[in-house]
Amino acid sequence: LADILSVQEARERILSILQPVETEWVSIDNCAGRILAGEISASADLPGFANSSMDGFAVISADTSGASWTAPANLNVIEDIPAGKTPVHEIEAGQAARIMTGAMLPLGADAVIPVEDTNISSLMPPGQADSGLPASVAIYRPARPGAYIRTPGQDVRKGQALLPKNRRLLPQDIGILAMTGHGQVQVFRKPRVALFSSGDELVQPGQPLMPGKIYDSNQYALAAMLAQGGAEILHLGNSPDDPGRIQSLLDRGIEQKADLIVTSAGVSVGAFDFVRQVIEANGKLDFWKVNMRPGKPLAFGLYRGVPLIGLPGNPVSAFIGCHLFAVPAVAKLAGRAQLLPKRMKAILSEPIESDGRESYLRAVVEGDNCRLVARLTGHQGSGNLYSLVQANALLIVPSGVKSLPSDSEVDFWFLDGE
Ligand code: AMP
Ligand code: MG
Repeated sequence: LADILSVQEARERILSILQPVETEWVSIDNCAGRILAGEISASADLPGFANSSMDGFAVISADTSGASWTAPANLNVIEDIPAGKTPVHEIEAGQAARIMTGAMLPLGADAVIPVEDTNISSLMPPGQADSGLPASVAIYRPARPGAYIRTPGQDVRKGQALLPKNRRLLPQDIGILAMTGHGQVQVFRKPRVALFSSGDELVQPGQPLMPGKIYDSNQYALAAMLAQGGAEILHLGNSPDDPGRIQSLLDRGIEQKADLIVTSAGVSVGAFDFVRQVIEANGKLDFWKVNMRPGKPLAFGLYRGVPLIGLPGNPVSAFIGCHLFAVPAVAKLAGRAQLLPKRMKAILSEPIESDGRESYLRAVVEGDNCRLVARLTGHQGSGNLYSLVQANALLIVPSGVKSLPSDSEVDFWFLDGE
C-alpha cells in the first residue's frame, strides 16, 4: 500500500489503469458533448459549388466596367435562379440572371451585382408577391471578377481533416457534421459511474431533519459534476456506516456493470469509516492518502476488479477530490484527449496561506486592466460549500509553499474550464 502520494502521482496511478470504453453510433441530434471515436474528414468541398453571397444579378464582370449612376450598364435578364435550382442557361455578353443568396452561379457569369446596386428594388411592399422577373436590369456600379461569389472549397477542402479523434463535440462541430452529410457519428459510449454516499447522519433532501442529522449533498453535487464530465450515473443511494450495507451497495454497482465506482465519506481514520475497510476485504486498496488540501483522505483501489475512488465526506473535499481525480478518470474512460482543465495564471489581490500541502483554494478570478486578478471567497473550511458556490476558479498552491504575498502570481483553473 502506497504511503501519502502527491496529487499528480495519485492521478497518474488512477489514470494508468483506465482504458477508454467501447464505441457506439449516435444520431447527430443526440451527440452534443460526446467524444468522437474517429477522425472526421471532409468528403467534399465546402461550399460544394460556386454560389452567390447576395441577392442580386449574376453577370459577366467585363459587361459592367465603367457602369455608374448616370451611365448604367443595361443587361437583358434571361433567367431566375432561386436557391436550390440548377441554372439552365449560360450567361453571354450583355446578359444577366437574377440570383438569390446561396443559389448556384450560372456558367459564364463571374460576378454578382447586389440588388441594391441596380434599378430593381429589393424591397417588396409587405404581403405582396414578387413582381416577376424583369426583362432588363440597369447596373449602377462595376463589379470586379469574383465579386459576391462563394467559391467551392472556400471554407473546407475535400479530404481536409475537420474534427480529430477524441474531441468533445461542440455545437459548431455538430453543424459541420451535418454540413458534411453525417447523420450519425461514432462516439465512445458514456462510462457508467456508480455513486453512493455513506454516513449515519445523512438524510435525503425533502425529508425532515432530526437533531444531529444533515442533508446528503455530496451525492447530488458529485452526480451533477460527473454527468457534466460525460458519465452516465448509476445512483446507488446512500448507506449508513455499516460495512455490510456498504458492501451490498458496492455489489449493486458491480451488477450494474459500473466502469467506475465513486463513493463519499468513510475513508478517513474515524471509528466508523468503513468504506476503506470494505475495499481492503474485497479487493485491493492502492492508496488512501493524498498530499493535498482540502481532502487528504482519498482512497483508490479495485473493488471486485472495478476501479473505485473513495472521496472524503466533507462537501468541499469531496467536490475538489471529484474534480481532481474522478472527472479526469471519467474523461479517460470516455475517450477524451484532454483530461484536465487548462492551467492559467492570475495575480493575487490578497496574501494567501497554506499548510504546505498542495492546496486548492476557492476564488473569484476576474479580468482587471488586462490582467487576471484572484481573490478568495469566504471561509475556506472544507465543509463550507457556499464558498464554492461563490467561486469561479480554484487557485493551486504547490506543495512546499506556505504563503504567497499579495500581487504575486498564482496558478489557477476555472471551475467550468475546458
Ligand atoms: P467522514 O468522511 O465520514 O469523516 O465525513 C466528514 C464530514 O463530511 C462529516 O462532517 C460528515 O457529516 C460530512 N459528510 C459526509 N458525507 C456527506 C454527504 N453525503 N453530504 C454532506 N456532508 C457529508
Ligand atoms: Mg462519517
